[in-house]
Amino acid sequence: MHSPFYFVYGVYRKSIDSTHHSDHMPTRRERIVEILENTDDAVTAEDLCQMLDVRSRSIIYEDLDHISRSVKSRNMQLLVRPASCGKCLHVFNMRKTAKPPGRCPKCKSEWIIAPAFIIRPK
Ligand SMILES: [Zn+2]
Repeated sequence: MHSPFYFVYGVYRKSIDSTHHSDHMPTRRERIVEILENTDDAVTAEDLCQMLDVRSRSIIYEDLDHISRSVKSRNMQLLVRPASCGKCLHVFNMRKTAKPPGRCPKCKSEWIIAPAFIIRPK
C-alpha cells in the first residue's frame, strides 16, 4: 500500500453559489460533517453510505461537494485522499468533483480505490 496523503478539497473551484446559505442544512449533511470531524481516519463514501443507511454513493458525493464549501465558513476544511487506480496506481485529479471516475483514464482498469474524506480545522 502507498501511504495516504491529503490535499484540501474544493479550493480550486470557483464558488458556484453566491447565494446565502442561511437556511438549515438537511440532517444527512450535518451528520456527515459530524462523522468527518470526529473520525481519526479518512472515511470513504461507501463507509458513509453504510453509516447513514444511504443507498447511493452519488448522493454522498453530492453532499461532499456541498460540504466542501459550507465548512469553510466555520474555518474548517474538507480534506481528501484522492481516488487512485488499483492497477497502475495513477492518482486521479479530483479538483472538480468528489466522485471518482468509473475507470482509470490511463490504463482503463475498473479497479478504483475509493477516495476518503476527513474534516479538519484550517
Ligand atoms: Zn490505471
